[in-house]
Parts: sequence; C-alpha cells; structure tokens
Amino acid sequence: MKVIVQKFGGSSVATKDSRKAVIKKIAKAKNDGYKVVVVVSAMGRSGDPYATDTLIDLVKHSRAKMKTREMDLLLSCGEIISAVVLCSELEEAGFSASCLTGPEAGIITDDNHGDARVLEVHPAEIQELLNQDEIVIVTGFQGKTRDGKITTLGRGGSDTTASAIGVALEAEMIEIYTDVDGVKTADPRMVGEARTLEKVTYNELCQLAHEGAKVIHPRAVEIAMQRNIPLRVRNTFNDHPGTLVMSGEVKYEQPTKIKDSLITGITHITNISQIKVSFKNTGDAGAALKVFKLMADNSISVDFIYTSPEEVIFTVKDDVVETAVSVLEENGLPPVVRGNCAKVAAVGAAMTGVPGVMAKIVSALVSNDIEILQSSDSYTSIWCLVDRDDLKKAIQALHKQFNLHETVQEKVC
Ligand code: ADP
Ligand code: ASP
Ligand code: MG
Repeated sequence: MKVIVQKFGGSSVATKDSRKAVIKKIAKAKNDGYKVVVVVSAMGRSGDPYATDTLIDLVKHSRAKMKTREMDLLLSCGEIISAVVLCSELEEAGFSASCLTGPEAGIITDDNHGDARVLEVHPAEIQELLNQDEIVIVTGFQGKTRDGKITTLGRGGSDTTASAIGVALEAEMIEIYTDVDGVKTADPRMVGEARTLEKVTYNELCQLAHEGAKVIHPRAVEIAMQRNIPLRVRNTFNDHPGTLVMSGEVKYEQPTKIKDSLITGITHITNISQIKVSFKNTGDAGAALKVFKLMADNSISVDFIYTSPEEVIFTVKDDVVETAVSVLEENGLPPVVRGNCAKVAAVGAAMTGVPGVMAKIVSALVSNDIEILQSSDSYTSIWCLVDRDDLKKAIQALHKQFNLHETVQEKVC
C-alpha cells in the first residue's frame, strides 16, 4: 500500500478558500495513486474563533491556573473542529473521507500534559479506513495516555502527529504543508530575501528547529529520522517543490560556494530574560548549585548557562521569570534581571572545526552596533544573546555576513 501523510497547518485550514487549496493537494495525491492520511492543525492563528491561542484565551481570566489535564481537553477541540470541517468539504467535493481523533488513531503518549511525547502508535483503525479507500483525516497535536486521558503534544505538535503516523504506516513520504515555500535560511518575516533550502538533512533541520525555526517541530524531524521516512516541507498555496529532508550529508555542487555555506541558517528565539546571581564575597561555595537546584525544583528550564566562582548567569523564558526571581529572593540569592532579550543562532554542520566563524559573527554584529550580551557555541551552532530591539537587525546582519541569500546547489549524498 503506497501511503502518503499530508499535514496542513493552521493557516492552510483557516478559511474556506484556503481549504480549497488543501483539497487540491489531497486530490493530487489521490490522483497519483496514494492512500492519503491528512493531519490537520486547528484553524487559523490567534484571534480566529477556533485557533489554539483563542482557546487558551477562553480560560485566561481564571485566577487559578487551569490544570494541564483540563487544558488538554480544551486544546484538543481546535483540531477536532478543523478535521470535521475539512471532512465535510471533502465530501462536498466528491471525496470519501473519515475523521479520527488522535486517540482513535492509536496515538499513545506519556502523561506529560501540555507537552506529551508519543510512545506508540497503533494504526489499525487508520489502516482499515485506508483499505476502504477513504481519505483519513487525523486531528493533529493530540493523543491519549495508556489509561485513556487526552493529552496534547506541545505547541506546533501536529507536525509530530504527521511523523508518528508516517512512521507507523511506513509511508512513502510525509508532506508538511504550511504558508511558506519550505525551510528557509532564516524566518522570512525577519529576512525578506531568505532563500528556500532545496535539501536539508534530518540532523541539520532538527538543530534549526530546536533553535527556533518554527516551520517544523523538532520532534517531527527526530521521529521521521528514526525510520528514514522522507519529509518534504511545502507551501499549500503554490506548486513550489519545497524542501526535501533526508539522511546523508548535504554537499555543494559548486565547490567555490563551500566557504560561504558554513552556515545553513540563522534562527532566533524571543521572549527570554537573562538572570545574573552574584555571590562574590559571600563565602557561599555551594551557591551555584543552590541556584540551579532551586530552578530545577520549580520546573524552570534554564539555558545559556555561564558559571564562575563569583556568579552564575543564565536565561529563562519570560513566562517563568517572575517565579524564578521570587524563588531566588526567598532563598537569599537576589538576582539582577535583564528582560526583553532574544537569542540568535547561526546553525550549520559545515562550521565544525572551521576557525573564524565566531570572528565573522562578532564582526557582523559589532559593525551594526549590536551588543552581544552573552554567547555560547557547540559543534554546529553559535548563539548570541541580544536585546530584543536589536533582533531583526542581528538576524539580517548575520544572514548577509554568510551570504545566505546566494543560491547554491545542494546535493544530499
Ligand atoms: P503552520 O501553522 O503551517 O504549522 P507555523 O506558523 O508553525 O505554520 O510555521 C510556519 C512559519 O514558520 C512561517 O510562516 C515562518 O514565518 C516561520 N519560520 C521561522 N523560521 C523559518 C525558517 N527558517 N524557514 C521557514 N519558515 C520559518
Ligand atoms: N494547534 C496547535 C498549535 O497551535 C498545534 C499545531 O498547530 O501544530 O500549537
Ligand atoms: Mg507549525
């Protein structure tokens, strides 16, 4: 059985007109002889009636923080509405389609409500419907625990649903349809001339996604990679071939371009704050451990960590900064906080072991009067913390510095 999984994001299913474009993509896959599984996100973006953010806003007034299990019940509704609406329009267009919720589609997760991980997929019901030649629409972003509680898979998690089903059905291809042509060298909202990558490896896309390239969820890439199922990120609204994601190593057909292609893309993450705790002259040798233990005990994830005998510096997401500060103050470790920060990263497997990349980054940022508040690196990424107001300028400066707008011929070997 030749199976394709097609996932359509929020903007693709937002309106009747946009769903016409979705139906065209599904019809094409059917015409090409595929059994088609369609995974949908909730309709639209913040402010649209059934979008995930709108559902979240419905309970924001509540003073008591809504329990994550109840929140998952609410959030799962967005994808259910979307699936049924698309199903009715497919039927109207003459196709035979059926809807399954994530739990009905056999998606079993852990019990980490709000950010659950897929543990297993039992696709018997999907298979049965495919055997009857139905188009099977599965609600993205949700599953159930082993004891039947509904869970959601973290923001952007419909991509993960598509990959999990693609792997379970050994699909020929997983297509991630969205509102841009594919994976680009930077967020096109930040860099107008960002180039669409023709091919990218799972590993590199995973890195880009973890560092903020929100076009795909990193777990979706990790899951597809486990079984080597090809992924393609594409635009719902045109016929651009998109970005093919696969294993191997991307080689450049024009050797002269190699030097300029040390970096694959520039990514960014906003809404973070920098926290400094100084313990100079306190004589408290265990202060650093105390700080990180306090953060861990309060489930606060820390990033960009710098430690020295005199201070620790790290970043946290804005939505937990208040808790972090009060916990530190209560324990005699008053912090200095710098809010309104953003993290910009240059990502590229080809930078490994190549000297001078950091010098190029510093030079691009400094010559644009951008202050680097902190920096860090790994084999394949260099991160800089900058003021949020400098972010766009920083992304554009780095994109230009590494000539990422220039076309290179990518070849996966
Ligand atoms: P969907 O609703 O289809 O899942 P998302 O909003 O989650 O769509 O992801 C698509 C958006 O990701 C694009 O509109 C784009 O602004 C953003 N984006 C961020 N980084 C990148 C990148 N490197 N390449 C392409 N798009 C990116
Ligand atoms: N609707 C969910 C979200 O907005 C999941 C998704 O769109 O992938 O995060
Ligand atoms: Mg998305």
